[in-house]
Amino acid sequence: MGRIRILPERVANKIAAGEVVERPASVVKELLENSLDAGAERIRLEVEGGGKKRIQVVDDGCGMVRDDALLAFERHATSKLRTPEDLLSIATMGFRGEALPSIAAVSRLVLETRSQEETTGTRVEIAGGRLLNVLEAGLPAGTSVTVSNLFYNTPARRKFLRTESTELSHITSLVTHYALAYPEKSFLLRVSSGEAVNVTPVGSLRERVFQIFGGELLEDLVEFGPRTADILVATPEEAEEAMPLEPDSVPLRIRVRGFLSRPQVQKLNRNSIYIFVNRRLIRDRVLLHAIQEAYRNILPAHCFPVVLLFLEMPYTEVDVNVHPSKTEVRFRHQQFVHDLVRETLRESLAVSKPISTFPIGASTAPLPPSGKAEIPLPETRESRFPRANQLHLTPPPLPPREQPLPLEPPTGNFSAIRAPWTPEGQRVAEPAVEVPSESIPSELAQLKPLGQIRDSFIVASSPSGLWLIDQHVAHERVLFERLLLQWANGAMDSQRLLMPHILRLSPAQSALWSQIAEELAAAGFETEPFGQNTVAVKSVPADVKADDVERLLGELMENLEKESRALSPEAIRNKIAASVACHAAIKVNTPLDQQKMEWLLGELAATRHPMSCPHGRPVVLKYGMKDILKAFHRI
Ligand code: ADP
Ligand code: MG
Repeated sequence: MGRIRILPERVANKIAAGEVVERPASVVKELLENSLDAGAERIRLEVEGGGKKRIQVVDDGCGMVRDDALLAFERHATSKLRTPEDLLSIATMGFRGEALPSIAAVSRLVLETRSQEETTGTRVEIAGGRLLNVLEAGLPAGTSVTVSNLFYNTPARRKFLRTESTELSHITSLVTHYALAYPEKSFLLRVSSGEAVNVTPVGSLRERVFQIFGGELLEDLVEFGPRTADILVATPEEAEEAMPLEPDSVPLRIRVRGFLSRPQVQKLNRNSIYIFVNRRLIRDRVLLHAIQEAYRNILPAHCFPVVLLFLEMPYTEVDVNVHPSKTEVRFRHQQFVHDLVRETLRESLAVSKPISTFPIGASTAPLPPSGKAEIPLPETRESRFPRANQLHLTPPPLPPREQPLPLEPPTGNFSAIRAPWTPEGQRVAEPAVEVPSESIPSELAQLKPLGQIRDSFIVASSPSGLWLIDQHVAHERVLFERLLLQWANGAMDSQRLLMPHILRLSPAQSALWSQIAEELAAAGFETEPFGQNTVAVKSVPADVKADDVERLLGELMENLEKESRALSPEAIRNKIAASVACHAAIKVNTPLDQQKMEWLLGELAATRHPMSCPHGRPVVLKYGMKDILKAFHRI
C-alpha cells in the first residue's frame, strides 16, 4: 500500500514556492533529508566531479513500494503532509514533495528502492524529467538515488556552477553537519580522493564532535546545556495550538545545547557557526545576532567564534515553510529564543575561564578510542596505569553498607572524582571503572611528597602526574585497616587511662551498650557498669587520646542509634574501627615534616583500599601528566 499522496491544491498553494536545485550540494541536501525522513540508520554518499558528474545516496531506510517509487516524481507528491494544518507543525525534514521531480528534471536519475515489507524492489530511470524505464529488481531494502550529469539539459545553469573543489567543499560541509545533528547514525561520504566523512554511531554529541573535528578543536570548545526554558503562553488558544515534541513533554519547552569556542579562538567569518533547529541545519539572522551578543566584549570586533548550537522546540514554534530550501525559519517567539540563546552562551562563557585549571566535571570524560585520541607521551609508567581520566571518574570503593556516611555532601573544588550524592547524602552505587588493584598502591608507593597546602593536603609528584592527598582521610584509612587487622589477629593494643572515664547514657543507649559491649572490649575499650545508665571506661585503644574518649564514644553511640536494623558483629566492629580511626587520625591543619609525609604515603600505599576513607570519601586526587601537558599546550 502506497504512502505518497499528491497534495491538494489548497495545501500545495501554501508551500513556499521556488527552485531548490541550485547546485550539487542542494541535491545532496534533499537526498540526505529524504534518507533521514525514511528512518535510515546508515547513509552512504558517493560523489564524483564535485557532484557535477555523479551523486549517489544510499540508505537503509523504509524504502518505497512500486507505486510510490513512481508517484514520488510527481510535483507535490509527498508522504509527509496531508492537510494545510500539517504545515503548522512540520516534524520531517521534507514536506514540499518537490525535490525528486525538481532533481529529475535537470539530471539523469536512477532510483532503486525496496520497501522493508516487500521482497522485490523497483528501479526507475528518468532523464530530464522523462520516465525512461521502470523495472522490478532484486534490491536490498532501502533506497539508492543516483543523480548524474546535473544540469546537462540546462547549460545556462551548468555554467554557473563553481569549481569541483568548491562544490565538493559545500557537499562535505553539509554532510559533516548532518552527521553532527545525528550522532546515532552512520554517515559515509566517499569522494574521488577517498573518504571525506566516515562516522559510526556514537552515544553523545561530544563523541560525534570528536569524530568529526578531532581532539584539538574539542580542546578549544566548551560544551553547554542542555538547558531548558518554557515559554509562558499568552493565551489559552496559544497553549492549545502548541504541539509538544513528545506526547508527555511540557508544551512550549525549548532546549538549548551545543558547543562554543573559548575566547582565544577567533575566526574571520561566520562559517564556523552552525545552528540546528530540531536537527535541521538552518541559517538565521536572529540567532546569529544572539551569538554575536553573547561574545560582545569577549571577541574583538569582526571576529567570530566556533559555535554548534542545537535548539529543540515544539514543531509549532518554528515555521520552516519560509523558503524553498528550508534553511530559513521563523520563530513564533523570536525574542524569547534570541534571549535564551544569548543568555545560555553568555553563562557558559563566564564559567569557561580562558585559563585552563584543574580538570573538573564532565569535560574530563574519557574520549572515545580513536587514532586521534592517542597522544604520544614519553614512555612513562602512565601507560601501565589507568588513564588519569579514568581515575577521575572512578568512584572510590563503596564503604561497607553498615558504615556511617557523612550527612553533608563533601564540599571542595575537586568534585570531579566524587561519586554522586543524593539529597539525603547517601552515596549512590554506580558501576565502577575497573582499576587494577595493585597498580594504584604501587604508584602511590612512588609518590614524592613536595609539601603541604594549608597544612592539610599533601602535594606529591610521581612520574604520571601531580597528586593531592587529604592527610586526615589518608591516615584514617591507614588506621582503620590496621585496627581491623589487629582485631582479626586478636592483638589489639590498648592503653589504660589514668582516671576512668565516666560516660552517661540515655536509656536507649544503655540497651545498645549491652549489645556492643563485647565488641568494644575486643577493640580495646575496657568498661564496667557504674550505676544506672552510666559506664566507666578504664582502657581505650592505643591510638585514642584520653580527652577524646567521651566524644568518640558519644558519636559512636549516636551513629549506632540511627541504625534501624540489628547489626552483625562484623558491622559493629567496622563502625568502632571507623570511629577510632577518625578520632586518632592526623587532623587537618597539622604541619607534617618530610619524614612524616613519606611515612604516611608509604602506609597508605600498603592499604587495601587507598583511594577512599572508611566513610567513603576520596583520599587522593590526581592531575595526570597528559592533562598537565595539555593545559600547557604542549600536546
Ligand atoms: P518530500 O521529501 O518533501 O516529501 P520529495 O520529492 O523529496 O518530497 O520525496 C517525495 C516522497 O518520496 C517522499 O515524501 C517520500 O515518501 C519518498 N521518498 C523520497 N526519498 C525517499 C527515501 N530515500 N526513502 C524512502 N522514501 C523516500
Ligand atoms: Mg524530500
